[in-house]
Amino acid sequence: MNSCFENDKKYIASTYNRFPIEIIEGKGSICKDSDGKEYIDLGTGIAVNTFGFCDEIWIEAVTKQLNTFQHTSNLYYTDPCVRLAELLSSRTGCSKVFFSNSGAEANECAIKVARKYATDVKGIKEPVILTLVNSFHGRTITTLAATGQDVFHKDFLPLTKGFEYTPANDINALIENVEKYSPSAIMFETVQGEGGVNPLTKEFVNEMVKIAKEKDILLIVDEVQTGNGRTGSLYGYMNYGFTPDIVSTAKGLAGGLPIGATMLFGKVKDVLTPSSHGSTFGGNPVSCAGAVNIIERIDDTLLEGVKERNELIINTLTGAKGIKSITGTGLMLGIETEKGASDIVKGCMEKGVLVLTAKTKVRLLPALNIPIETLKKALEVIKSVCE
Ligand SMILES: *Cc1c(COP(=O)(O)O)cnc(C)c1O
Repeated sequence: MNSCFENDKKYIASTYNRFPIEIIEGKGSICKDSDGKEYIDLGTGIAVNTFGFCDEIWIEAVTKQLNTFQHTSNLYYTDPCVRLAELLSSRTGCSKVFFSNSGAEANECAIKVARKYATDVKGIKEPVILTLVNSFHGRTITTLAATGQDVFHKDFLPLTKGFEYTPANDINALIENVEKYSPSAIMFETVQGEGGVNPLTKEFVNEMVKIAKEKDILLIVDEVQTGNGRTGSLYGYMNYGFTPDIVSTAKGLAGGLPIGATMLFGKVKDVLTPSSHGSTFGGNPVSCAGAVNIIERIDDTLLEGVKERNELIINTLTGAKGIKSITGTGLMLGIETEKGASDIVKGCMEKGVLVLTAKTKVRLLPALNIPIETLKKALEVIKSVCE
């Protein structure tokens, strides 16, 4: 057996059910395993490698910073994080940004800001945040509490207090639960990723926006997976036409380096005060240099390309044998298949295509610039495996 497999099982905590392949290198949307077998990668490390493996322009931006200085503390001013914050502000209209290192941390910051706002401005001692059933917000104890799925909760009780849940896309339940819990904030993904690639309806989002306005409830959008061009807009909320109060993002932001960002819009921009929050690595110059490069390149042309690839996937797979339905937006898609999703993953892997699952669906999160010909090849494989 491969010694990497053996030593991984021996020395690494058993939290991951890994597939029996060891990835050793990649370029663009193709990667290679230790047997020399090549794969078309439609998973991008779960929406992280925004422009695929080892994108040359990104490498240049990152290595330039790496050769300048790799890190200092947040006691000093540095340029890359300021450039990134300014860029995010100009592209979204947010006022300020807090940088961290992961999606869970970006959400932790969002939750802290929402709580502090409720306490500072409204004098609420123990504010409630309403999240959606079937959501996913991370693995820390507090973001687990925010996650509306019992399967993630069991074995880790007690979780952080102050979270209540309401079903996605159910307007009546939303109205009832807002009455019942008087939440200070509502937190949601515009497309539930881990929950099975389920987009929120325009009607439901419009209702949340309306209620939030009436009752001065903050809207927190978790754009960890939907963000950074993934859905065909820079951020998923932009597909719905409203202005959120807090947006968290991570995964694809730095194109393959660890980063989290919490964007604070008008009302909450000054909630965080000196020493109310912090992060040793937050705003790391190398990650931020990578992120500046990624965000600068997610322009209208790139986003048109995401839509074009979305249409290609939908047109190729809709009505194909063994495919029941496709959900999602842009290059964040879930495919309901007649065969089990894990059988499809295995079958595709054997034929050189890497895909993911989300609940009972096959999930695709390809690089935003995957070459059309490569994508076509991968779709033929998916079709043949689903048959
Ligand atoms: C992945 C994900 C997270 C957690 O991100 P980590 O970087 O793994 O902490 C949170 N929210 C959503 C919507 C995600 O998809």
